[in-house]
Amino acid sequence: MRDVHVDQIAETIARLVQDANFKLEQDVTDAISRAKSLEEAPVGQAILLQITENYTIADTERVPMCQDTGVALVFLEIGQDVHLVGGSLTEAVNRGVATGYKEGYLRMSMLNDPINRVNTKDNTPAMIYTDIVPGDQVKVKVDCKGGGSENMSQLKMLPPSAGWEGAKRFIVETVANAGPNACPPLIVGVGIGGNFDKSALLAKKSLLRHVGAPHPDPEWAAREQELIEEINKLGVGPMGLGGTVTALAVHVEFFGCHITALPVAVNIECHSHRHKEAVL
Ligand code: SF4
Repeated sequence: MRDVHVDQIAETIARLVQDANFKLEQDVTDAISRAKSLEEAPVGQAILLQITENYTIADTERVPMCQDTGVALVFLEIGQDVHLVGGSLTEAVNRGVATGYKEGYLRMSMLNDPINRVNTKDNTPAMIYTDIVPGDQVKVKVDCKGGGSENMSQLKMLPPSAGWEGAKRFIVETVANAGPNACPPLIVGVGIGGNFDKSALLAKKSLLRHVGAPHPDPEWAAREQELIEEINKLGVGPMGLGGTVTALAVHVEFFGCHITALPVAVNIECHSHRHKEAVL
């Protein structure tokens, strides 16, 4: 067993949420560069240039690239040979988020209660996802996810007879309905199968894939390709002002499901895809 102190996890998260808001990872900037070469509409091209300029300013001046600095999604892959010491993991994660958001002067967007709606003033609670994996390390992945794109996400329990064509229709319609509200160009995360909650989690986790990397199964990679072609035919374009690039990537993850079910979840991520990771 290897001891990992939860304070290390808190300190790492405090750093990652700031870095994520100030500087995009290479996979996202590469995807935007590809979009610039593909975008045919002059207005779309102009928006992509402005988006790139905004990224450069955020990086150079260490200021947030968007006013919505997001809800902190924290994905922990904990090696089964790790012994977490020093206190509660959940408290440590939230301490890290609170410290990072305060130190970085990031906007506090979280409420204590969805109906009473009092701001917690430290951007907690974080959304925490844990997986137990082989090994003696802890991988910490952070995604600071904007509310606008999350709000345009959808989940539907389709009848099995809907098949791939029905699933595809629902996914493309979800992006069409999102229009400009999710700040395209988008990364579209799709979860198919499992059950109600599993499909949503698959969609969420698919967003963590290297942007634009195809599914390892060629059949599913071909379906991703079908989807991005259909989505980019919608003409929504960068920031919804029209154009040929509505999505930077479509990532699909699947899981086995019950004979009566065909759950499909679409989790939409905006172009400000702020993710970082570290290994402890
Ligand atoms: S959807 Fe993304 S880019 Fe748009 S306001 Fe929210 S965080 Fe910012």
